[in-house]
Amino acid sequence: MSILRTVGRTSSLPVVLTLCAALPLAAQQTAGASMPGYSASAAAAERVLESDAIARPDPARARAHSRTLSAETHVSGTPSQERTRDYVIAQMKAMGLETEVRRYDVFMPHPTSVRVWRMAPAMTELTLAEPAVKGDPTSALPQYLTVNGYSGQGDVTADVVYVNYGLIEDYAQLDSLGISVKGRIVVARYGRSFRGIKAREAEKHGAVAILIYSDPEDDGYVRGDVYPNGPMRNRNGVQRGSVLNVDGDPATPGYAAKAGAPRIPESRMEIPHIPVVPISYGNAGELLDGLRGHDGPQSWQGGLPFRYHVGPGPVRARVRVTDDRATHGTKPIYDTFGIVRGSEFPDELVIVGGHRDAWGPGAADNVSGTVSVLEAARAVAEAVKAGHRPKRTIVFATWDAEEWGLLGSTEYVEDDSLRLMRGGVAYLNQDVAAQGARFGGGGSPSLRPTLRDIARAVPDPNGKGSVYAEWRRASAVADSAEPAMGDPGGGSDFAGFYNHLGMPIAEWGFGGPGGVYHSQYDDFTWMSKFGDPGFVYHAAAARIAAGMALRIANAEILPYDYVEFARTMQTYLPAIDRALASHKWSGSTGALRQALSDMEREAGQFAAARADALVPGALTRQREQAVNTALLGVERALTRPEGLRTRPWFRNLIYVADENNGYANMVFPSVNEAIRAGDEQLTTRELADLAQRFEAATRAIAAARAALQ
Ligand SMILES: [Zn+2]
Repeated sequence: MSILRTVGRTSSLPVVLTLCAALPLAAQQTAGASMPGYSASAAAAERVLESDAIARPDPARARAHSRTLSAETHVSGTPSQERTRDYVIAQMKAMGLETEVRRYDVFMPHPTSVRVWRMAPAMTELTLAEPAVKGDPTSALPQYLTVNGYSGQGDVTADVVYVNYGLIEDYAQLDSLGISVKGRIVVARYGRSFRGIKAREAEKHGAVAILIYSDPEDDGYVRGDVYPNGPMRNRNGVQRGSVLNVDGDPATPGYAAKAGAPRIPESRMEIPHIPVVPISYGNAGELLDGLRGHDGPQSWQGGLPFRYHVGPGPVRARVRVTDDRATHGTKPIYDTFGIVRGSEFPDELVIVGGHRDAWGPGAADNVSGTVSVLEAARAVAEAVKAGHRPKRTIVFATWDAEEWGLLGSTEYVEDDSLRLMRGGVAYLNQDVAAQGARFGGGGSPSLRPTLRDIARAVPDPNGKGSVYAEWRRASAVADSAEPAMGDPGGGSDFAGFYNHLGMPIAEWGFGGPGGVYHSQYDDFTWMSKFGDPGFVYHAAAARIAAGMALRIANAEILPYDYVEFARTMQTYLPAIDRALASHKWSGSTGALRQALSDMEREAGQFAAARADALVPGALTRQREQAVNTALLGVERALTRPEGLRTRPWFRNLIYVADENNGYANMVFPSVNEAIRAGDEQLTTRELADLAQRFEAATRAIAAARAALQ
């Protein structure tokens, strides 16, 4: 997923990261034209090295990688996905990288049969598969059955109810109309929430199955011409995708799914129990057109050419799903790693990663991200061959089973958590790196200035200046402001690194109009005609990846910007103040406000001291190491071992995906979940806890400053 792009299991009108308000330009000008974390001479050499590496990713090579990796549907747990593993490893070996493959065995049932009938009026079986389209040879190849990942099994027949987006508030609306979905089959449209939340709410309200369809208003003909005449979803297009609401293998919650690790029984896994099947809007029309009963609020109308009614009935449907869980529910998955050992701080890791699995050929999601990782790896490998080994270790990873619920990256994070806690410097994610021309980016506020600076150094493929300049122009922000960047919510492989461990992360990519998300039509022909015909945005994403990895890996002192971080945090206080006032609660954000102001002041002093200390010969490597070790503690201090009260695995207290939405981002979740729960005492306690965590983060910055002197 992505900022204005489609991301993995994130959204259909894709945004993994949700946008926050633009920050004033001044907030990141502490560094001026210098390069934070570098002495002047080191900065000059780094600029030369980066510009050489940025020039290396090659559109022709990106195109060739894309063609090979998207040649067939490569769902996790299948032989075709093992072929992508072998391709990536062979490429990285050929670049001269050290390689590693890690295998995990996860619970991941694959369907054996998926069928849907309209039973009344006029019984007919719906054709679920996506038909081949002219001029697109890949569309005629075998495809993955249209079922949502982690659907339950079942064979149910019942009246149909239309539930709009299937949000919590949609069921409340149905309640107020006196309509129950208990014992019924619900039809929901995609959008406004993660599909796993739709499945959870349907099951919670007693539905016996849920069909989720892509309304033409969402990404079909209402938005533009449909495939193959245009990039949008045609009447047969289907959005597959997982309905798992936890991150990682549901059989091994919180620990790695290695051989011999204990597995919890299926009855205790947090997985859906009813059939969950995605359908096209062509098929949805077959069910919705005949519904009667209430015609729902006006906002429930979609883009199909009839008046939408809620039902129940008189349309009846039958849904039947079977899978292989009884015999082959557990399957191997494979993460790949290409490693460049650092020369000075080998235990500090900069990881560039993207998922390698897909629901179909996956040219956009996520062959484009895999290609970016490959081309960035090649750029760095060539720099190493030319004698420029980075100071820190850079790891180029591809993750398996992201589409099922971030399994590959989560199992890896759980497997290597001690090493990552100690030495994980940054995780840079590539999910849907290129499917259009519009740049979007985001991540931890500590890395945003670095991402902007690298975007200034990379030419935009349209020839009109830098990626940064085009981004500004397209964002139409005031001269005094920076383009908005996304916050890390959920929905892609950064979650383990960010939400579980508190590692700083960044993500970027190029988005555009598209309606092939998680469809068989997300393929090489679509990409070549609509997404990125010249594969120039694939190369541009890789240029940024190479520049980001080198910038962070070669810094003498880590380039985190905790001034921008603290200022960004301060923008979240007024909403909390308003909530406290509206509840007439006695609690206050005073201590938190003070802690953030202290953090900003200390961070400013640190940045100045860092610049002063970075003169040739002033710092020994041991001293640099001490400063960096202290800096690695800053964002770790903003996590807590017991995690969020709602979700203990989520330890980071800054951003998280809203548990009632799955896509929307929630800031300061420990506090804002307490406010939402209506618990005044808990809110007061959580405000105090968060203020103390920021005080600890500030002490880590102060320790870094002390180590400089
Ligand atoms: Zn993806």
